[in-house]
Amino acid sequence: MKTEFDYVDENYKRILFNVNEAKEKNSRKDDIQILAVTKTVDPGVVNHAITSCGIRTIGENRVQEYLSKKDLYKPVSVHFIGQLQTNKVKYIIDSVDMIQSLDSIKLASEINRHALRINKIQDVLVEVNIAGEAAKGGVSPDSLEDMLYELAQLQNIRVCGLMTVPPVTDTEKFLYKMQKLYIDISDKKIDNINMSFLSMGMSGDYELAIRYGSNILRIGSALFGARVYK
Ligand SMILES: *Cc1c(COP(=O)(O)O)cnc(C)c1O
Repeated sequence: MKTEFDYVDENYKRILFNVNEAKEKNSRKDDIQILAVTKTVDPGVVNHAITSCGIRTIGENRVQEYLSKKDLYKPVSVHFIGQLQTNKVKYIIDSVDMIQSLDSIKLASEINRHALRINKIQDVLVEVNIAGEAAKGGVSPDSLEDMLYELAQLQNIRVCGLMTVPPVTDTEKFLYKMQKLYIDISDKKIDNINMSFLSMGMSGDYELAIRYGSNILRIGSALFGARVYK
């Protein structure tokens, strides 16, 4: 009988196949990271993805869940990708390699303050609310540039790119918009702002996201199966 681990192996193979096919189709020769999104997933299963599939980066959504699981994970790079309250920054700052969900100056100041305290330069991506959806986090495309100039002043934060969660309808239109914004901002060559990463594409749209320039795919259910909330 197949185990949960076997399914993860099969899923990962399928994802890799699809990623490589999409890269080929869109003449992408650069590196595209597959980040495994672990919410609700048992640490044992996550560890299997790390050791058997060679997953090198995981994505964490919730502070509480992450703290309860982090000591159980095999060595792996951790990106925080969920909404982050300012008063929770102190719990994760010492153990995350990237915070992808930076969406306000207030949060940035708090990250900067704690990073300074532990003598760290914290890598971040700025989350963009590309379709202006009320229920989603992220800065509006119109205010992004001004915000980047402000972030560039914070000594213990390093902006490395942009992240988005596009809407489920008209997804392609918004992936395109996001790519355009990313390129426009890159071309401005703002001092102290790097545009190395564009994080978009989840289980339902990662092939499309590759077409529009994403180089970090955040994949949960296509790898681990449908989420079961306990
Ligand atoms: C849950 C989540 C994902 C992964 O979603 P799937 O559709 O299961 O791949 C990616 N990014 C963020 C921010 C998430 O919260």
